[in-house]
Amino acid sequence: MVETEMPGSLDEAALRQQVAACTLLLNDLEIMGYSGHVSARLPGRDAFLIQSFDQSRAELTAADLLVCDFDGRVVAGNDRPPAEVYLHCEILRARPDVQAVAHFHDDLTTVFTMVEGLTLLPIKNHAVRWADGIPTHPDPSHVASPALGRALAATLGSCHALLIRAHGQVVTAGSVPALLVDSVHFVENARALYQAAALGRVIPLSAAEMEAFQREFKRDKHVAKLWKYYVGRGRARGLLPKEWSALL
Ligand SMILES: [Zn+2]
Repeated sequence: MVETEMPGSLDEAALRQQVAACTLLLNDLEIMGYSGHVSARLPGRDAFLIQSFDQSRAELTAADLLVCDFDGRVVAGNDRPPAEVYLHCEILRARPDVQAVAHFHDDLTTVFTMVEGLTLLPIKNHAVRWADGIPTHPDPSHVASPALGRALAATLGSCHALLIRAHGQVVTAGSVPALLVDSVHFVENARALYQAAALGRVIPLSAAEMEAFQREFKRDKHVAKLWKYYVGRGRARGLLPKEWSALL
């Protein structure tokens, strides 16, 4: 499915602000933590923005971001990329519809890869984003080579998220704002399923219920509303510089 969320006219400066803001906000929400990364495809180029290996997720600036090509080489910037840069390279190479990728290591969500026969199901309404399934990549390794990146992209297939066994998560979207919103909902859904399962037999959303919700759902409006909320929250808390005027 080709996504049309990315306005397409965003220049590199605006995308830099979005990627840095998304990282800072995911960190503040305790989804990102001390490792993990957000990337965004640069329009019209086989290249993307990503933070460096060492830069703190709590202090990232727009100027800190590197430009990397799909082979993981740094083409602009003076630092080394994250060891798992190949996760981003190979998903962006394989999936032209994907404009932004998040990789993080949320402990509670990772629990769903650790129990035999257990599957992360869409249980909350906004989790219908993953009605096509949430595959689990069987190899827990850090995605630190092109071959490991290609294997992970193959597991993802045409889905919008995956779990890496005993390791973490990947979420993909058609824009950075949508990536933030999807990442929040992805973790919310896992937490809801964990809590519901502790109380009794889980009732997942049926295929018909997911279809009905998707039919009525205005994804673009929802993404815009939540992006505005989280950017506003970030500004109020002093996380996001006021001069990042391209965010809203
Ligand atoms: Zn990882």
